[in-house]
Amino acid sequence: MDKPSKKYQFIHDALAERKKNNQFRSTQALVPSLESMTIEREGKSLINFSSNDYLGLSKHPKVIEKAQEYLQRFGAGSGASRLVTGTLSIHEQLEEKLAQTFGTEAALLFNSGFQANTSIIPALADRNSCIFIDKKCHNSLIQGSILSRATIKRFRHNNLDHLKDLLEQSESENFNRKVIVSETVFSMDGDRSPVDSLAELATQFEALFYSDDAHALGVLGKQGLGLNYKQSGIDISLGTFGKAFGSFGAFAGCNKVMREYLINHSGGFIYTTALPPAIIGALDAALDLIPEMESERLKLHQKISSFKEIIQDAGFEIGETDSQIIPIIIGDEGETMKLSNHLSDNGLWVSAIRPPTVENGASRIRITFTTMHSDSDIERLVDALKRWKQ
Ligand SMILES: *Cc1c(COP(=O)(O)O)cnc(C)c1O
Repeated sequence: MDKPSKKYQFIHDALAERKKNNQFRSTQALVPSLESMTIEREGKSLINFSSNDYLGLSKHPKVIEKAQEYLQRFGAGSGASRLVTGTLSIHEQLEEKLAQTFGTEAALLFNSGFQANTSIIPALADRNSCIFIDKKCHNSLIQGSILSRATIKRFRHNNLDHLKDLLEQSESENFNRKVIVSETVFSMDGDRSPVDSLAELATQFEALFYSDDAHALGVLGKQGLGLNYKQSGIDISLGTFGKAFGSFGAFAGCNKVMREYLINHSGGFIYTTALPPAIIGALDAALDLIPEMESERLKLHQKISSFKEIIQDAGFEIGETDSQIIPIIIGDEGETMKLSNHLSDNGLWVSAIRPPTVENGASRIRITFTTMHSDSDIERLVDALKRWKQ
């Protein structure tokens, strides 16, 4: 290749650095199957153990049908942002249904979890505020905190004593507002936050509490309604639709005055085109299905606990997981890539997670279970993992 032009030098340097450290990433095009967890990559068939489509709803006939119906009735796009002419009756109906189902006073749609987190937090905090955020929070929550220009205090992962210390210290610092930010199920470890204790601390220190329920929705909590469900003391309960809802988008569960405030102050709500009708249709159908899927959830949780037992017995390290996300922590990046390749050679797609997504020396493969995995899919994974250990 020609010598890069001067203005592109930093790009070439950054990419070379990633490659040198085994951290270079690229996308891979896959073809999914609607009937199973099989995906095809370059003509090769693999079982997908990295999907967040926990209930298989992206492939559910009722979800697809309702998306098609709304597409036919209301068109391919919503035509404008929500405050112009993009609010269709179906948007407001869905918001009311979300609030009713999740037991919050109100709900407000956003176009993605990333967009919600990066535009709600900056609406809640400003340069005179202080944000207390768990060290392992999702990138979108960190980005949102940085964008707000508030002082950011990161507390040790799930460490209530550390959080309390930081809150106490901040009493003398004259912040106009305090916001506690965490997520109920951590995306790389699958462990849970102490959401009730966080809510108590928020109440005690008169802080706002922002709790992101992305990975719990559909899978955990009463009727799969998440771990924020019916928990008092949460000001924003953030739900996303790209995971168990099987579709796309996000919503904030909150009270009515908060909803009005976000409609007026959250840039990611105001300055973007409203979600398209097909998505609203898919979400409406998914919302009907999720509370009804108790038997599927029960089977899923049984499969997860027996899998965990088997691979721990086989000597694998899985950390503190208490969900459908199961990391197998390897440590070394090269070794992690070898395991990932071994699994792929055995017809299994399991992604490797490396720095900077996780800390140095904490590289892992990350397995997610869905209701669509068959017993034989899981047996195949167990066999391949055992063979690697030998
Ligand atoms: C996946 C995820 C998001 C991002 O949601 P999208 O709708 O995919 O943009 C935000 N927060 C957490 C905790 C997540 O796991």
